[in-house]
Amino acid sequence: MDYKLLTPGPLTTTKSVKQAMMVDHCTWDLEYKTITQEIRQKLLSLAGVSETEYTTILMQGSGSFGVESVLSSVIGPNDHVLICVNGAYGRRIVSMSERYKLTHTVYEVAEDEIPQATAISEMLEKDPSITAIAMVHSETTSGILNELEEIAKLAEDKGLLFIVDAMSSFGGIPIDVSALSIDFLISSSNKCIQGVPGFSFILAKRDQLEKRRNYARTVSLDLYDQYETMEKDGKWRFTSPTHTVLAFHQALKELDEEGGIYQRYMRYLTNNRLLRQKMEELGYQPFITKHQGPFITSFLYPKQAAFDFDNFYQHLKQNGFVIYPGKISTVDCFRIGNIGDIYPEDIHRLVKVIENYTEVAYAG
Ligand SMILES: *Cc1c(COP(=O)(O)O)cnc(C)c1O
Repeated sequence: MDYKLLTPGPLTTTKSVKQAMMVDHCTWDLEYKTITQEIRQKLLSLAGVSETEYTTILMQGSGSFGVESVLSSVIGPNDHVLICVNGAYGRRIVSMSERYKLTHTVYEVAEDEIPQATAISEMLEKDPSITAIAMVHSETTSGILNELEEIAKLAEDKGLLFIVDAMSSFGGIPIDVSALSIDFLISSSNKCIQGVPGFSFILAKRDQLEKRRNYARTVSLDLYDQYETMEKDGKWRFTSPTHTVLAFHQALKELDEEGGIYQRYMRYLTNNRLLRQKMEELGYQPFITKHQGPFITSFLYPKQAAFDFDNFYQHLKQNGFVIYPGKISTVDCFRIGNIGDIYPEDIHRLVKVIENYTEVAYAG
């Protein structure tokens, strides 16, 4: 059965991205290593950062492996990280910090609110031992888009390390990495770049990475070690996900063909606005009312007692769309992503399917 994924990653990829995987590549072959280097270069240029100031490290595993690699490799014994939380991905950073026994403080706000620089500033005043701030940009739990600017400025003014999980936003919205002075930004192959799952990537400020070279607590996720090896000639430490890398290389070309990040952002924004407008016309209320991001939307279960998510899900699947269950801890929601190889005509088609379901399910 053929269907489109309206999930925030893995997401619907193009045929040509899938086609790029039909080659078995050798990992130490020069051609393959060159592809890795091209990807690393391209990610720097997408981020608008210079190669002297920043580098890119590719890391095997899903996005969480990239986040864990950063936390376990760059937070030193004398560091104290302030973690902003407004959803499950922020909480995952907390879990990792607990596991590695990193000195950390949690700043948590409700899932429909964004972390505030003023509150962080107060926490920093009270506790001068804080040396780092970690936060999620697009909190995929709800679809809310956290604001980076003011928090970034605080981090820079106070000389704090700034770590951003931009998993579901990088490539889908302009992020001025250098102006925000982000030290470590993490994203992955299967989100807004529109590749397939298999690795994460980290944009890292070179001087911070160098300074923190001896902090790694694991071998496999040692960010500096991976960097050092990759920097030589594009060779990954340990087996790399070759097919995924080829698909990602193709996906980067297609991002260029689309016109770059801004054009992609405009497409996502159009999809998202259309989706929310049409869903609200059908009576579905979004969970986020302020700071909704352009990537994924959480909708509250409709008031009708008859609403059954599994039934709804199966109906959509049979009609060509797969959506996500909710992840909000306090209310029942389902989520619809609008990233990937998705266009307004897909949203129109989806909304028709939902309209038909709504009519049948709640008739009489
Ligand atoms: C997808 C995602 C991750 C990583 O999740 P994985 O399942 O490990 O790929 C981390 N943070 C955010 C905000 C995400 O959207």
